[in-house]
Amino acid sequence: MNESEQCYVHPDRVMLGECTRKEIRERLASGDLRGALLPIGATEQHNEHLSLNLDIVLSTFISQQVALHLYPQVIVAPPLPVGYSPYHMARKGTLTLRRETMHAFLYDVLKSLRTHGLTTALVVNGHGGNHGLLSDLLPDWRQELAMTIDEVSYWTGMNNQQKCEILQGYRDLRDGKLDTVARQTALNHASEEETSLMLAASPQRVRSFTMEKYDDAKLDYANNLSECVRDYLEPTFTREGWPEGGPNPENPRDRARQENALHATVEKGEALASLHTQYVADLMKKMLANSAPG
Ligand SMILES: [Zn+2]
Repeated sequence: MNESEQCYVHPDRVMLGECTRKEIRERLASGDLRGALLPIGATEQHNEHLSLNLDIVLSTFISQQVALHLYPQVIVAPPLPVGYSPYHMARKGTLTLRRETMHAFLYDVLKSLRTHGLTTALVVNGHGGNHGLLSDLLPDWRQELAMTIDEVSYWTGMNNQQKCEILQGYRDLRDGKLDTVARQTALNHASEEETSLMLAASPQRVRSFTMEKYDDAKLDYANNLSECVRDYLEPTFTREGWPEGGPNPENPRDRARQENALHATVEKGEALASLHTQYVADLMKKMLANSAPG
């Protein structure tokens, strides 16, 4: 079967956990199914309006879109439920894994997939803190598992011109309209970019908010942090440099993200999702073309 023979595919059909053993067995036996996407993200604070699981929801959404685009060649493995987020631990609800826990999970899943005959796998990351998570390990894993393996953070295919075309915040940055370091560094996490994507992918996970309500909450993520939280924040931020004096003042940046999220729309999210899907699909296609059958 090739892409042109089947116009409609239910989105569940590309999710490994939603398939039966019979379906996977037959797709493998026919040679249709050759590769897997492994979404990773985070369970971490995304300001006042977005669900904590945003990075997982979006990396899974992009992976699913890619798998539908490449159907029936690729399956989406279950996402890792938590990522590497120690620097967000001052905000309630954030969970973090140690990097070695993530490595162990991914290695075990990759080995399982390889055992079933899949020779190509792409880890699709949705969270800045996980970016480059596997870079030191990939050469060894490729050799040990005899697999074509790579990792990609889905947003990295977008160039500055595309960002400026779609997102107000990046246009404002280009045009010198963002007057503080906080505003200049608040353009992706929980802001216009991620909020727009979430509006397109899963709008029920975007709550309403106003800057008035944000200010009324009198949030402070810079002072009176517990020892336990500070242990997580170091060594990224030293006790002397943390929190307000450094290049990324924490409270103003948190507010700037909320402010930037006001620009989000579903149309921007759809334009972003389309670019990200194309980018990851192209990468996976190349990997499949270069990979020997299992
Ligand atoms: Zn995020």
